[in-house]
Amino acid sequence: MPKSLLQSFLAACALFVSVSVMAQTVTDVPLSDADVKIKSAAQNAAQNAVQSAASEAAKKIPTAEEIAAERARLERMRAALAAERAALEQYKADLVKRQQEAAAAAAKAKAEAETKAAAEKAAAEKAVGSAGSVPPPAKDDPVSIRNMSPEELQRQRQLAIERAKAIEKAVAAQRAADAKKKAAAEKAAASTVQTTTPKDKDVATMKLRKITQNKVRYVHLRDVAVNYGLTFAYTKNANKISGAVIYDKTRKAIFSTSYRDGMVNGVQVYFLYPMLIKNNEPYISEVDFLTCLDPLLRYKTPVKLGMKTIMVDAGHGGSDPGAMNGTHKEKVYTLQIAKRLQTQLEKLGFRVIMTRTGDTYPTLQERAALCKKYKPDLFISIHCNSSTNKTPAGIETYRAVPVGGTETKGSKVKTEKQSGNEFDANNSRLAFEIQKGMIAATGGTDRGIRHQAIYVIGNASCPAVLVEVGYLSNAAEVKKIASPDYQNKIVSGILAGLAGYGSFLR
Ligand SMILES: [Zn+2]
Repeated sequence: MPKSLLQSFLAACALFVSVSVMAQTVTDVPLSDADVKIKSAAQNAAQNAVQSAASEAAKKIPTAEEIAAERARLERMRAALAAERAALEQYKADLVKRQQEAAAAAAKAKAEAETKAAAEKAAAEKAVGSAGSVPPPAKDDPVSIRNMSPEELQRQRQLAIERAKAIEKAVAAQRAADAKKKAAAEKAAASTVQTTTPKDKDVATMKLRKITQNKVRYVHLRDVAVNYGLTFAYTKNANKISGAVIYDKTRKAIFSTSYRDGMVNGVQVYFLYPMLIKNNEPYISEVDFLTCLDPLLRYKTPVKLGMKTIMVDAGHGGSDPGAMNGTHKEKVYTLQIAKRLQTQLEKLGFRVIMTRTGDTYPTLQERAALCKKYKPDLFISIHCNSSTNKTPAGIETYRAVPVGGTETKGSKVKTEKQSGNEFDANNSRLAFEIQKGMIAATGGTDRGIRHQAIYVIGNASCPAVLVEVGYLSNAAEVKKIASPDYQNKIVSGILAGLAGYGSFLR
């Protein structure tokens, strides 16, 4: 029947289409050779069915038996194809499962390899200790390590240990070489320091702007700083310069426009004049610059002087008790300290001349005459301070007033030169060193380096200072002054000062 033939034809077409669709769906997953055979067999069968059905329809009109046979054949084919389809679905499911298993196995293997590699690395690092950070060779990438056989891994590990040992050895050798080099450099630097003290500039060659104000000559402080290689800085008060500092790593001088006292290298220093501001620029008096600041900033004295014989002057004595506080008498303590100083100086090899050794009173003129007679290299006068006010305490060191300057406690300008003024610069440095030494040794209050018209130091024939070791009028300080411990500290402070002054001498 044409109708049933047509139906068969359409059924065959539908079957072909469904097989094609099925084949396309299956190609979503990779196919094995067997899969491909099955697929092509199904396609061939479908094509054959379509072609034979079409040719039969074209040739002749089939009989009822032929139609029935054809229908049965198509039914068998349909069943076969359905079976194939089920098999392919199963295969597809199996394939996905196999792929998942393979991926899981690969991940597991990778993790195991990484764990093993990490363990190997840790073992190698442990074996070489501090050299554990040795970088692996380029070929030791994770992939190649993963692929290595246990024997190869062991061999690589051994190589890594040897490499690390070699690097460790090289590092140790380099460290030793560096240490040797550093020691040699330090030795060279030390010897350089010993032989080359920084050079002082000759004051006469310095270019300094100068002005005169109220008959006093001043030098430009910035120019001073430049000539000593120092940095200049200032402070302002109400928009006016009120203070200035010049400094480098080892030296520092502080000045004020309001007060004469400043600080030089950590010690309080009374200048002869306060800092002057002219046209918004700071100046210091020329006499302060020459007799005080320059000697404290320079490394070596420009005046050749010795330091072998030292005259020690115990203040007061005999009929002159000096300051008193109850039973405490200045003349007693000045002699005790002078004798302690004598003992220590003689131990150090100095020749010591005492202006008095007992409770006697050589006059001030007699003391000055002794200085001129024996020509010591230094003159040190020892005194104790006193005040009607019981509060003041601390240590002061005096030097002669330079010509053109005034006393710290006065305003009258000194015009006549004394023998002691030959040594103005050295007086300043000696006073500075001894004051610094006593403050360091006793921990006492620094009342500064001062100037006063004191007969014995003004009329000395060598650098001379007068030390006030403390206030008898202060209840706490008088007890200290009376004690051997404090007296010894004062003596050791003076000795330290003499050592500092000695290094300043050429
Ligand atoms: Zn005195």
